[in-house]
Amino acid sequence: MPIADRFTTHDVDNQPPPLAPYDAYASDVALREAVAREGAGWAEAQLIAYGPIVGDEAMALGVAANAHRPALHTHDRAGQRVDDVEFHPAYHRLMALAIEHGVTGFAWRHAEHEGAHVARAALMYLHNQADQGTSCPLTMTYACVPSLEQQPELAREWMPRVVAPAYDGRSVPASAKLGNTVGMGMTEKQGGSDVRANTTRATPLGAAGPGVLYELVGHKWFFSAPMSDAFLVLAQTDEGLSCFLLPRFAPDGARNAVRIQRLKDKLGDWSNASSEVELQGALAWMVGEPGRGLATILQMVMLTRHDCVIGSASIMRQALVQAVHHARHRRAFGKALVDQPLMRNVLADLALESEAATALAFRIARAVDASGRDERERALARVVTAVGKYWVCKRCPPFVNEAQECLGGNGYVEDWGLARLYRQAPLNSIWEGSGNIQCLDVLRALRKEPASTEALFAELESVRGGNTLLDRETGALRKLLGDNGDLEPQARRVVERMALALQTACLVRAGNVAIADAFAESRLARAHGVTFGTLEPSAPLQKALIERVLPIS
Ligand SMILES: Cc1cc2nc3c(=O)[nH]c(=O)nc-3n(C[C@H](O)[C@H](O)[C@H](O)COP(=O)(O)OP(=O)(O)OC[C@H]3O[C@@H](n4cnc5c(N)ncnc54)[C@H](O)[C@@H]3O)c2cc1C
Repeated sequence: MPIADRFTTHDVDNQPPPLAPYDAYASDVALREAVAREGAGWAEAQLIAYGPIVGDEAMALGVAANAHRPALHTHDRAGQRVDDVEFHPAYHRLMALAIEHGVTGFAWRHAEHEGAHVARAALMYLHNQADQGTSCPLTMTYACVPSLEQQPELAREWMPRVVAPAYDGRSVPASAKLGNTVGMGMTEKQGGSDVRANTTRATPLGAAGPGVLYELVGHKWFFSAPMSDAFLVLAQTDEGLSCFLLPRFAPDGARNAVRIQRLKDKLGDWSNASSEVELQGALAWMVGEPGRGLATILQMVMLTRHDCVIGSASIMRQALVQAVHHARHRRAFGKALVDQPLMRNVLADLALESEAATALAFRIARAVDASGRDERERALARVVTAVGKYWVCKRCPPFVNEAQECLGGNGYVEDWGLARLYRQAPLNSIWEGSGNIQCLDVLRALRKEPASTEALFAELESVRGGNTLLDRETGALRKLLGDNGDLEPQARRVVERMALALQTACLVRAGNVAIADAFAESRLARAHGVTFGTLEPSAPLQKALIERVLPIS
C-alpha cells in the first residue's frame, strides 16, 4: 500500500460545492420582476439566452481574465512605439460574449421599443456578476452614443460599428473592424472632479474626413481601456473646454500619438487595463459645440453613472447568491448555517438590501429609457441617477464584506470568489464622480431644475397609502428641501434619506408588502443596528426573503 494511502488523515467533508454552473437570470426572481415591472418583458429572450452563459462559461472566464492581468508593451523589439496592451484570451472572449449578447448595443439597436434600456441594464447586471473589469469598456461603449450623436457626420461613420453586436480585439484601425469600442478621457493629474482645470490643449487643423480635426497635446491621468478603438476626451480650445473623438489610429492609418506611460497598479478591477497617457500631437475630431465640452460629455457620464448603480447592485447580487449557497451547504453546530437564527438574520438583511438596490437601479433604467419621450421621466432621471450612484455604490463594500463573512475563512480566500468582489466593491463609488460630487450634483439638480424636485416627489407620492412610514418620510423630506438653509454641509444625509425613500417606494410598487414593510421599518424607522444582520426578529419573513434569493437546487 502506498505510504500516502496508509496515512490518509481525513475525508474532505462539509465544504460547499461550487454554485456554477447555474442560470444567473432564471434563478434571479428580483431581477425578473424588475425587468417585467420596468417595461422590458418583451426582451426576455435576450436575457434567457445570456443567463446560463453568465452562470457558467463567463464565470470561469472572469476568474482567468483576473488571474492573468493585462500587460503593457510600449515598444516593439526594434524600438518602435506600439503602445499595445496584451490581454489574456479570456478577456477577449468575455468582451465578445457581452457585445454579441447586447451589453453595449441592444438598447440602441432597439431604440424604437420602450424598455430597451431596461433590457440592456439587465444584460449589464448579468454580465457584471461574472467579470467587472470588462464592464468598464462595455459601459463606455454603450454610453458614448448620445455624445457622439452631437456630431452627425461623425455619428454616421462611427455609430453603426459602435452599436454592432461584433467585437474585434485586434490592433488595427477602427474602420477595418465590424464592431468598435469607445473609452473616455477626462481625468488629469491636477483634477478629476473639477475637469474645468484640464490643461490638455487642442489646436484646430481644419476640416478633414467627418469633421474638424484638432491636434491634442497634454495628458490623461486615468485612461481605462486604452485599447479601445476611440475615446471621447476633453481638451481646452480658445472657446473653452471642448469634447473630441480621439481615434486610436490616426486618419492616415498610422498609430495616433497616444503614448501609454504605464498601467495603474490597482486595488482590484484587474482584468481591466487602466492607464496613464500622454497625448503628443494626437489627432481628434471635435464633438459638439466648441467650448461646450462638459455639456457634451455629460450625456455620456449620465449613462456611465447609471451603470455604476447597476454594477454595484449586481456585485451585491453575486455576493449574496454565493453567501446563500454556502450557508445552505455548510453545517455548523449540528445545523446548516442557513438554519441558524442569527445567520438567517444576516442573510435576510443582505437580501433586503439587494432587493432595494436592484429595484432602484431598474427604476432609474426606466427613467433613462423614457427620457427622450417623457419630460417628467427625464427630470426624474436627472436627479435619481446621482442619488442612486451615491447610495447604492456606497452600500456595496460593507455588503460584500458581510457576504464574505458568511463563508467564514473561505470568504477571504481567492478561489471562492468573494475576495475579488471585495476588491472591486469600492470602485463604482469612486469613479465617474465620487460620493461628495454625486451629493453636490443632487443639490444642483434640485436647485436649478424645479422639474426634478417635482418628479422626485411625484415618484414618492405615486405609492401614497402603500406604507405609512414612507408617507411620513415624504412629508419630512419635502419640509427639509423646502427650508432655505444651506444644505451643502449635510448633503450626504439629505441624499441618503432621499435614496432610502426612493428604494422604499420602488419596493412598495413592486407589490411584495412584507419586503417593503421590512425595508421601511429597518431603514426608515431605523429599527436596525449599524451592521447587517440586525433586523427585528421575524422568522417567516426572513425565511421567505432568503428563499427568494436562489431556488433550492
Ligand atoms: C480604476 C479607475 C479607473 C478610472 N478610469 C477613468 C477613465 O477611464 N477615464 C477618466 O476620465 N477617469 C477615470 N477614472 C478617474 C475617476 O473618475 C476620478 O478618479 C474621480 O472622478 C475622482 O477624481 P480625482 O481622482 O481627481 O479626485 P479629486 O477630484 O481630487 O477628488 C478627491 C475627493 O474630493 C472630493 N471632492 C472634490 N470636490 C469636492 C467638493 N467641491 N466638495 C466636497 N468634496 C469634493 C471627491 O468627492 C473625492 O472624494 C478612473 C478612476 C479609477 C479609480
